Amino acid sequence: MSGAHGVLALVHAVALVGLTPHRVRIECSRATGLPGMRLVGLPDTAVREAEDRIRTAIQRSGLRWPQERIVINLAPADLPKVGSGFDLPLAIGVLAATEQIPAASLAGLCACGEVGLDGSIRPVPGTLPTAVGARDLRTGRLFVAEAAAGEAALVTDLEVVGVRDLTEVVALLRGDRLPRESLPTPTEVPASTLDLRDVRGQPVARRTVEIAAAGGHHLLLVGPPGCGKTMLARRLHALLPPLEMDQALEVAAIHSVAGERAPDAPLSLAPPLREPHHSISAAGLIGGGSGIARPGELALAHRGVLLLDELLETPRWILDALRQPLERGEITITRARSRVRYPSRVLFVAATNPCPCGHLGDPRRACTCRPDRIERYRARLSGPLLDRIDLHIEVQPVDRRQLAGAADGESTAVVAARVLEARQRGAERWGAGMLARDLQDHQLRAGCSGRAMSTLVRAIDGLALSARAFDRTLRVARTIADLEAVEVIAPEHVEEALAYRLSAPVGV
Ligand SMILES: [Zn+2]
Repeated sequence: MSGAHGVLALVHAVALVGLTPHRVRIECSRATGLPGMRLVGLPDTAVREAEDRIRTAIQRSGLRWPQERIVINLAPADLPKVGSGFDLPLAIGVLAATEQIPAASLAGLCACGEVGLDGSIRPVPGTLPTAVGARDLRTGRLFVAEAAAGEAALVTDLEVVGVRDLTEVVALLRGDRLPRESLPTPTEVPASTLDLRDVRGQPVARRTVEIAAAGGHHLLLVGPPGCGKTMLARRLHALLPPLEMDQALEVAAIHSVAGERAPDAPLSLAPPLREPHHSISAAGLIGGGSGIARPGELALAHRGVLLLDELLETPRWILDALRQPLERGEITITRARSRVRYPSRVLFVAATNPCPCGHLGDPRRACTCRPDRIERYRARLSGPLLDRIDLHIEVQPVDRRQLAGAADGESTAVVAARVLEARQRGAERWGAGMLARDLQDHQLRAGCSGRAMSTLVRAIDGLALSARAFDRTLRVARTIADLEAVEVIAPEHVEEALAYRLSAPVGV
């Protein structure tokens, strides 16, 4: 059916708002006017520039550019359509509207890819969530750049066709050629070379890292430069169990949208570890940028560890912006035309020096700070962000004799097995994926003995701790009990949990 204003060709595409896919109908119709194509329906600059790329690509591929006027409507109009990934569906639409490929071959076809001037098809960021969208929106087949086919094929229950150039696209849609198989790239969990055995001495730090990994508790490390704060944080990351397949896909989708993932990279089951520099911008940390907000370090660390070293060098207002996402496990960025959500279930590790010069309490070197400066420095540590960190410890430099001695502690493999068991115990009790940090108040109290509760109430009264500190301490006590395979929280679990709060450099 091709009337004067009837739709000649229809191709589907996926527009991403954050990670959320939306179906876009690319409708090509003939109109009166100068030859060429005209785009309507809120295309951004990159989509508008598509016309130049597509025209050159079509001509250089020995195909015909329309001698009539083709109007291409991207529907729905109120949905922002961003990026060069619309090139391929637009080119397919033009080729079908000019009868160079049969319109019937477009049934159930969805496409995503940038078209180079020579007709080659290139991968674009966000291929993975686009493929998830194509499956969930039931568009049918998905054409993507061959280089991105492995990434798209990670999504099951979707027919993925990798294409090299427009000539191949035309041959496939005419039925002249069979698609090559797009094999999903294998998954991998690289063995970490970081072992807890390398941490000499430091029994409290080792214990805290284990508790943080088991319960997903945020951790603050205070200590002089070179005392091993970063080393501890990286070993904490190595204690986390590998991701489940659906979690790994979710993480890979965020990295794909951010353009931080090579399209031919295998799916990694390792939880992410992000270590942004303290001079990072708010957009870099929380997410932002022009157009649809891109994920920041916080979302890129989803289901892994976000390590922020030299915490107090980061401006206070940026740290304040971390509070809600850390508590909710989700970031919302609101823009004039869109609201974007990214998941951010991270284990937050903050590290800082104990004073401006860094050497307060350091046996190797004397602190040169004036008392009032130390006081002001520490005042910056207190407050709402610190209140959301469950575990606070001071890390001291290890003396030479300990460094020279044999590694005597447990290895990462031994501790990671205990972490996994504790997590499984929690999951059996509360549901898959639930950690102590995710529990509701009544769930926490239900697993606490009367004596343990009295111990906690006495401590809270005596030390004037906040209601939030009460809640946080109980969560840590829950994790400690789970590490010991104990069902009911006992007074000694509460006492140990309190110790990690009281050793904080400032009272909370
Ligand atoms: Zn100092």
